[in-house]
Order: sequence, then C-alpha cells, then structure tokens
Amino acid sequence: RRGSTSITFTTVPIEFPPVTRLDPFNKKRILVTGGAGFVGSHLVDRLMLMGHDVICVDNYFTGSKTNIAHWIGHPNFELIRHDVVDPIMLEVDQVYHLACPASPVHYQSNPVKTLKTGFFGTYNMLGLSKRVKARFLLASTSEVYGSPEEHPQREGYWGHVNCIGPRACYDEGKRVAEALAYSYARQDGVDIRVARIFNTFGPRMNWNDGRVVSNFILQALRGEDLTIYGDGAATRSFQYVHDLVDGLIKLMASDCTEPVNLGTPQEYTIEEFARLSIDLVSEVRAGKETTKSKIIHLPPVTDDPPKRRPDITRAKERLGWEPKWKVREGMLETIVYFLQTLQP
Ligand code: NAD
Ligand code: UDP
Repeated sequence: RRGSTSITFTTVPIEFPPVTRLDPFNKKRILVTGGAGFVGSHLVDRLMLMGHDVICVDNYFTGSKTNIAHWIGHPNFELIRHDVVDPIMLEVDQVYHLACPASPVHYQSNPVKTLKTGFFGTYNMLGLSKRVKARFLLASTSEVYGSPEEHPQREGYWGHVNCIGPRACYDEGKRVAEALAYSYARQDGVDIRVARIFNTFGPRMNWNDGRVVSNFILQALRGEDLTIYGDGAATRSFQYVHDLVDGLIKLMASDCTEPVNLGTPQEYTIEEFARLSIDLVSEVRAGKETTKSKIIHLPPVTDDPPKRRPDITRAKERLGWEPKWKVREGMLETIVYFLQTLQP
C-alpha cells in the first residue's frame, strides 16, 4: 500500500493529496499520540505515505482502530493501546502530541480526566521528548483565546478564558499544556512546536460528537431540523483536515518555536453555516429527495465563544502555509463520507 494515494477505509475509498516519497536517509521514527482519532489518523496516513516509521499511541476514548486499521501489519507502523496520563518509554525522533478529546460533548463528559490528559499527558510526552531529544509538537487550540476580545485572533493575544466554566477543563488543560511546553523548552532545551488549531472538519469525524459540522450534516441527511444553539450569530472559521495536516507537518519541519495559528480565515455565522449545510446536502443528493430540514433555535450553551477567526500571517510568513481547500469543497467530501458510512 505504501506510495499509493488511495486507501480503503471500511467501504469508503479516501483520496489523499499527492505526497512526496522521502529520501530513505531522512526517514524518521515518529510518535503520534491520539493517532487513532480524526486528525491523528489523517496525520498517520500522511507520515506513512511519506515513508516514515510511525508509532500510534491511543486509548481509544474518542478514536477508533478502524481509523488506522489499513496500516495494521505494515512494517513501518506500530499501534499501542496506552493512556498518555501514564508514562511510556519509547525511542523516537519526533512527537506529535494530539491525544485529547476535542469535542465539547466528549471533553465535558469527564472534565477531571480531560484536565489530567492536558497536564499529565503533555508532561509525560515532554518528559519522553526530553529523554530522547525528540522534537515535540503540541496540538493546542483556538480555545486558548476563550471568548476573544480581539478579532481576528493573533498569536500575541493572551486570551479571555473562564477558568471555572464548563469549557475550562479543555481550555485550561491546553493552556497549561502550552505553559509546560515553554517551561521544558526554557529549562531543559526541549525543541518544541505549538500549533493553535481552529475548528477542523472532514472524513472520519465522529458522527456523534455533537459538534456543529457533524450535527448539521447528519440532521440535513436525515431530514431533521438543524439545531442552532442561541441566535445563530456566533461565528466560526472551518478548516478542512488535509490543510491542517499540511500545516502540522510544515510546522514540525520549521524553525518556528512560537505558537502558530492553523485555521481558515473565512468566517461563517452558525446561521449561515446551517443554510450552507442544507444547500450542500441537497446538492449531493441532487436528483434524489431534497432535505425537508428547517432551522430551529435552542437555548444557548454556557460560555460559547461568540466569534472565532484566525489571523494566519505567522503561518504564511514562517511556514509558507495557507489553506488550499474551500469550505464548500471540504463539506462536499465530508457529506459524501457521512452518506457512505451511514448507509447499511
Ligand atoms: P479526536 O477526539 O478525534 O482525537 C483525539 C484522540 O486522542 C482520540 O483517538 C482519543 O481516543 C485519543 N485520546 C484522548 N485521550 C487520550 C489519552 N488520555 N490517552 C491516549 N489517547 C487519548 O479529536 P481530533 O479532532 O482528532 O483532535 C486531535 C487534537 O487536535 C486534540 O488534541 C484536539 O484538542 C486538537 N484540536 C482539534 C480541533 C478540531 O477541530 N478537531 C480543534 C482544535 C484542536
Ligand atoms: N452549535 C450549534 N448547533 C449544534 C452544534 C453546535 O448551534 O448542533 C454551535 C455551538 O453553540 C457553537 C458552534 O456551533 O457556537 C461551534 O460548536 P462546536 O461544538 O462545533 O465547536 P466549538 O467551536 O464550540 O468548540
């Protein structure tokens, strides 16, 4: 399978962008924590196709073996069931630390565990990186900006987070993870990279994670009403997963040790995004029954950030990265994926 650009995931063929085969002398041993999750599994695919040795560590809390099943048995791939809250001894050149639930429904279901993952998980992976002198990349989040008073958000903005609210377990977990990374860099010279990731979507998203993209696509596909929490004026900027994977790999390869926003600056209100979801589901189903879905409003959720849009100047200047996928194109791919995986 190595070197091919198409992989079969259960019954759904996933097309990957073209990748460069690495010079064997540049082959690295790479640990991806959370590699069985949505973003992690796409990152594992790309690193495997580049020819690296990849170790995936995951406790399957929100991820699934199915996401990386196509690599099991490949000589360059190793899968370890492990909880990053506990230490692990591995010898690697690079660590992509993604292990952490990302959807509010999941991370709020066990907030103490989310905080333990944020602190102890990152602490263990930084300790490992220090011991073996590996370069360490943290998957941080736009949530470190909280309910932002600056718009769009630049990396220099310190954020506005409610440390006692229901989202604090995730937001503060990621903020302490960043603080740990910079402390290890200062004190012990650990070679760190920090990606602040904005809302990301694509195939292999959990269909039941309660996030807006999966909810709206599912609701529209099933002809149910799309549920907007609050008045629909909140904004988000959505990035397609292949762009994020490009950004993570470029950041790891760069000399940029400051935090870097990775996201798509195109901003939608949730109301606009609901209408777009209905239109695109209808487009995918052209010729079949069009969706009967309407938009309904439910009570707002606590501490919901009212707006979010990345300033990606640093990523452009330091990494030569900017998103290539239009939201519309990515949504069409994601809708087709949901349609195929949800069919009996
Ligand atoms: P995901 O839930 O699909 O993946 C997270 C993976 O980590 C899962 O496979 C899960 O089983 C694993 N995991 C969770 N806790 C663990 C633990 N204690 N030990 C070992 N494995 C554990 O989420 P995702 O969307 O792929 O997010 C990946 C990373 O990117 C996360 O760190 C998340 O915070 C960050 N991020 C994602 C988004 C997004 O929109 N998807 C936005 C900002 C940041
Ligand atoms: N949202 C919504 N309806 C849903 C799911 C989410 O209106 O069915 C809203 C949510 O209140 C927030 C935005 O969509 O304003 C994005 O929510 P999500 O959970 O996807 O991610 P967040 O960016 O809040 O972590």
